[in-house]
Amino acid sequence: MSIETELKQILEELRRYFEFQKSLGLEGMILEKNLEREDHVKISIQEIPEPKTQASEDTISANVQLNIFDSRSKGLTLEEIREEIGDCTRCKLHEGRTNIVFGEGNPKARLVFVGEGPGRDEDLQGKPFVGRAGQLLSRIIDAMGLKRSDVYICNVVKCRPPSNRSPEPDEIGTCVQFLFKQLMAINPEIIVCLGSIAARSVLNTKVKLGDLRGKFHNYGTSKLMVTYHPAALLRNPGFKKPLWDDMQVVMNELGISRSGD
Ligand code: SF4
Repeated sequence: MSIETELKQILEELRRYFEFQKSLGLEGMILEKNLEREDHVKISIQEIPEPKTQASEDTISANVQLNIFDSRSKGLTLEEIREEIGDCTRCKLHEGRTNIVFGEGNPKARLVFVGEGPGRDEDLQGKPFVGRAGQLLSRIIDAMGLKRSDVYICNVVKCRPPSNRSPEPDEIGTCVQFLFKQLMAINPEIIVCLGSIAARSVLNTKVKLGDLRGKFHNYGTSKLMVTYHPAALLRNPGFKKPLWDDMQVVMNELGISRSGD
């Protein structure tokens, strides 16, 4: 990639990052220059142009984002990221949690599943996807010819939202940095976002799930597939076929032969 292309990509990622911050309610940002001068730069979020809405253009590069915003996160291991989270109180979700649900699985997984956030069972056990929806995810993984220990499973937010509500933008905005770092540490070939909250948070888009699923999106060096959350299948079995279609695309990419339908 030429320097000019790379610079354009970085500027585009910056624009999307600030747009994301704006959507979370941020009105301005003070950047402190690391120079001997005392000046500060105020960046007006209002000047950022409207984002494009085309799904294929709403992808984001985890590598570029992390390189820009936290160069220290380069090369962190999953253990170091968990250590960084600590006994986190960075957002209000800490108030009702029993356990932080960091994620589990193969740290060198070729395939990572990303959900929305822990539910009651996950909160109690400190493990992702162990309730009814989690058991269904285990069956999906099994039908793909894989074991749970082959893949890595985590969520956008690490603490259970009260009454199983969806995580709010400020909570996602605070916690998603750790997901980005996990994805950076694992560097999987494929990321599967389960449900619209995971897809929208990771891709930083407002595009509907139906328009995102069924095809790969670029995400750094990984490919990203969006599909339905297993909990949605429990409510609506009609989602089973499209989800399985999505998983077959993933299996083909990974070179796994089909073992179930
Ligand atoms: S959800 Fe994330 S940011 Fe919020 S308290 Fe839990 S670990 Fe911290």
